[in-house]
Parts: sequence; structure tokens; C-alpha cells
Amino acid sequence: LKDMKNGKVAVVGLGLSGISTVDYLLRNGISPDLFDSRITPPNKDAIEEKYKSLKQSFGVFSDNEFLDYTYVIVSSGITLKTPALANALRHNENVFCDVELFARINTKPVLAITGSNGKSTAVGWLEHALNGLGIKAAACGNYGVPVLDVIDKDVDVFVIELSSFQLESVQSLECAAAVVLNVSEDHMDRYDSFEDYSKAKNKIYRHADLCIYNQDDFQTKPLISHDNVVSFGSLDECCEQTCWQYDVTNKLLLKNGRQIACLDDFNISGNHNGLNGLVVLAMAQAIGVDVELDSTLAVFKSFAGLPHRCQLTLDANGVRYIDDSKATNVASTLAALNGLANDKNIILIAGGDAKGADLAELADAIDRDVKFVVALGKDKQQFESFVPAEKLSIVDDLKQAVEQAGKVSVSGDCVLLSPACASIDMFKNYQQRGLMFQSLVKELRQ
Ligand code: ADP
Repeated sequence: LKDMKNGKVAVVGLGLSGISTVDYLLRNGISPDLFDSRITPPNKDAIEEKYKSLKQSFGVFSDNEFLDYTYVIVSSGITLKTPALANALRHNENVFCDVELFARINTKPVLAITGSNGKSTAVGWLEHALNGLGIKAAACGNYGVPVLDVIDKDVDVFVIELSSFQLESVQSLECAAAVVLNVSEDHMDRYDSFEDYSKAKNKIYRHADLCIYNQDDFQTKPLISHDNVVSFGSLDECCEQTCWQYDVTNKLLLKNGRQIACLDDFNISGNHNGLNGLVVLAMAQAIGVDVELDSTLAVFKSFAGLPHRCQLTLDANGVRYIDDSKATNVASTLAALNGLANDKNIILIAGGDAKGADLAELADAIDRDVKFVVALGKDKQQFESFVPAEKLSIVDDLKQAVEQAGKVSVSGDCVLLSPACASIDMFKNYQQRGLMFQSLVKELRQ
């Protein structure tokens, strides 16, 4: 920070983490210049008013925009390939996101979690369990609470969710344990290749005391050699003996081959959550929790999951309506189908912005588990190429989708909103999509 005080600092991107960075710097006596590439970012008026003493600039960056700065703190929403940032990086290694700044200042233990799916669930679960056990934990990062908002909080441990975008510019994050939960195609509109995306995630292991990877998904294995590595995975698929295993058939969580819990006793369901549960236990153990005590396990079992992740909205006349709006890629929708399907009882509402992914990867699961598909959003036509016409309805909006799903459902069915796509083509975010689904369902059935 001393170095920053003597230099010139730019904050680039004035979203949640950008504003958090500005506030942190101001609290520490540093006055940055503010930039956003949008002419009118959300809350522009409030930003202009609140930070009127600071230099502010809105609109496309010139190629040399940041060459005069000693530090450039960039929102992870902006790719470092943007010419102005790529140029700055060529001259200056101090171009990074808020998490790297946090990493350089923080002195407390960190548990770090990344992956294509399950990050928020695992982070929320750990925060819930550790606080329940009297260990003060703060969930932050990509979780919706910027790291610099909580850095000065009185906590024992930070549980940080990291996206691949953040990891691109994080070099020095030291952590007690780090995990890559899984790697499946996502954000292919921002990466040149799947390998680039996977490599960005792998950076989380760089300064970890313990690396935890997914034995079912070799893309998650640390690329660096490391002395302290454990794995988790499903018993049915593991060829190697792993420390943490999930027995899919019997829904059992095992440690070193010994049963420690059954998923049926948890307040959360689905095989993917069996795997998430193993990770949460492994991470807690890494900071000294004895996870085999009954009283400790009871706290882990009480986590009820986060909203919009396979969340039961309503059970009306035997039809269950489930909000899985957070399923923004193919793998998460496959996990929902895997966890909920029972004899082709699913009516799937899907579609939106596929972010460059091929939705046809859903074909086999749809064929096996789904009775009817209602497709909406920007990439809805993709479904025509792999779902038979008699099993598909293409609609204009979520209201029509819920109505259509209601029409074709009978008792025992499950109407599942699990879009496999981002929501930004039609909604502000996945929360708005999920909340709208919930209110439409209640309107229709109550
Ligand atoms: P993230 O923060 O990585 O987006 P979330 O916990 O918010 O992850 O869950 C996103 C979606 O992925 C939800 O639909 C959820 O049901 C699903 N999901 C959660 N854990 C897993 C997992 N281990 N594998 C696949 N899908 C998962």
C-alpha cells in the first residue's frame, strides 16, 4: 500500500468489485483515477456524485490509456486482452484484479474454491458449517461479496470463490487449501480454447498448502508438482483409491474407505452435492476441524443449499416445480437431470445465451430423462436440432414457458427450470430469471 500511495493508481471497471476497490483505497488514503469502458455504466449518476473529487472517465479506452499508471486494478469482467490493458501489461506487471491486491495484503488463512459448477454452493456450505462450529468465516470473492469489503473484518478464515476470470490475474494468493471442483465448457466466448480456460482455473493451486482435485475429472489435477495433494471422486468411477469418495449407488460419503455420512441425512440432495459435500469436509479438515465427530457432521448436514440451485418452489397436485436458474451451462443442467429424474418425469424449461456452447450435449440426457422440453431465449433454435418436434415447444418468454410446462405436466412430474444458458439475453441476471419463474409458477398454480 505504501508503494501505491507514492504512485498513480487506476481502477478500471466500476461494477461491484471496482467500487469496492475504490472504497478500500480511499479508506487507506489512496485516491485512484476511475475508468469504465461503458459510456453509461449502471449507477453512473451515483458514482459521479459519490466520487466527485476523483478523476473519472467513461467510454472506450485509448490504447495508451493506462501507460502512466503504476497500478491498474482491473475488474475481472474485463478481459486483459483489451488492447489498452494488454499494452499496460507489456510495460507494467502491476495490472491485476482486486483479489490479487487482497492476496498481497491479507494475513489470515484462506480456503479457495474454483470450478465450472458448484463454487457458490461449496463456499456457502463452508461458511455455514464453519460459523456453526464457532470458527468465524467470511464467504467472499465471486460469491457476491468483494474480497476488499471484508479484508479488515474480524474473522478466522476467508472462504473465497474464484472465477477463471479472476484467476487470470491472481499470482500471489496463499491458501490453506485450494480446490478445482470440476472443469466443463463454459465462457467459451471469452477463451480461445478449453485448455486456456482450464489452465486459468489451475492457477489456484500455485501457493496452496493443500491441493484438492476431482478424481472424476482429470482437468482439475494440479499441473504443478506439489507435495500435499488429495483427491475426491465417485466410488463408481474412481480407478485410484482416493481419500474422499462418494458412493453414488448408496449415497454414502466415505473417507479413506470408511463411511462417515449418508446424503439422505443431509438437508441438500443430488449426487453433485454428494461430491460438493466431500470437498467441504476436506477443506474444513485442512484447517483443523475433526470432521468425523457426530456433532460436527450435524452442522454440515444442516446446510439447506442456496436459492436458484435445484430449489423446490412449489408442489402442486403432485407436480414439483424446481428453480435451477443458476444452471448457466450444460454440465450444471446435466447434474440437475441426474439428481432429479425418475422415469422420464422431467419437463425441462431451458435456453438463453449459450455463450458459444453446443447445447446438443444435452441430447442423451434429454432422451433418457425428459418428457418434454420448452425452449426460450437467444439460442432456443439449437434445441430443434436434437429434440424431436413432438417433444419440443419453442416459446417467446418465461410466462409462455411456465404455461406450456403446466399444460403438459401430470402428477408425479417435475417442471424444472434449468436453462444450461446465461440469462443476460432476457433478464438482468439469473436471480431475476429464478424469481420470475417462482412468481409465475405461484400465479399459475395457486
Ligand atoms: P457456481 O458458483 O460455480 O456457478 P453454484 O453452486 O452456483 O455454482 O451452482 C451452479 C449450478 O451448478 C446449479 O445449477 C447447481 O445445481 C449446479 N451444481 C452445483 N454443484 C455442482 C457440481 N459439483 N457439478 C455439477 N453441477 C453442479
